[in-house]
Amino acid sequence: MKVKLHGTRGSYPVSTAQNQKYGGNTPCVEVTEGRQRIIMDAGTGILGIDFGAYQDSDRIDIFLTHLHMDHIQGLAFCKPLFNPNQKIVIWGPADSEESLKTRLNRFLSPPLFPIPLRDIPSQLEICEMPNQAVEVGPFRILSEYISHPGPTLGYRVESGGKVLTYMPDHEPTIGRQGLYPEDEWVSGFDLAANADLLIHDSQYDAGEYQQKFGWGHSSLDMAVEYAERTGVKKLVLFHHDPNHSDAQLDEMFRAIVQNRSLDFSVEMAVQGAEIAV
Ligand SMILES: [Zn+2]
Ligand SMILES: [Zn+2]
Repeated sequence: MKVKLHGTRGSYPVSTAQNQKYGGNTPCVEVTEGRQRIIMDAGTGILGIDFGAYQDSDRIDIFLTHLHMDHIQGLAFCKPLFNPNQKIVIWGPADSEESLKTRLNRFLSPPLFPIPLRDIPSQLEICEMPNQAVEVGPFRILSEYISHPGPTLGYRVESGGKVLTYMPDHEPTIGRQGLYPEDEWVSGFDLAANADLLIHDSQYDAGEYQQKFGWGHSSLDMAVEYAERTGVKKLVLFHHDPNHSDAQLDEMFRAIVQNRSLDFSVEMAVQGAEIAV
């Protein structure tokens, strides 16, 4: 698999001279195997995808973790949505009150957006993730609800004997100090277990986390602890806080890796980076 990070920023997009290194677009990750691709989340990063490389005949599958604005903001401006020959399948979390389609329609309709969902020209299908694996081309995609406000999925993508786990918004220790001692109680444990690559929320430094306990995001320390516990081979720290400059992110990364011996590799998510899995 090839994993391209089109958007790495959490909460809202930013563009200043101080955040060019890690990028300002909100979450979107494109996963490629051969000429097959799937897209994880539709933040403003989705607007950086070269859809010209997709054929009209290719189905585009977009897997949404949840419907917070930073994960769907790019959807409305995604060109293939306006191509009547294009088949697009949007997957996402179910909710006990309203369908995924109804909830998405709140954003994709006036007054927030001029065109209601029913008038989007592409061949659009909206599917709630079932409680079992979904197969798209060479990909096998599993999901589970994980700790974050509102129904939120984590994803495990398997292809070619490799595993990518995507958890951009996740606070695994919500409501307690530290991870549960029993694996089955750790949020998303089965999704992340022994993954080749884990892309995980790391919005705060340790001090900020104390102020924002229960907001649904992790500190860098927590993401590292979670990666250690689940036995992943590589961790990418993702969903950077929009208030953190490149210099601050560099410093946060230095602080997390110094004086620590880890048996997996760890790096900061950089917009535009491509990672081979
Ligand atoms: Zn987010
Ligand atoms: Zn969120």
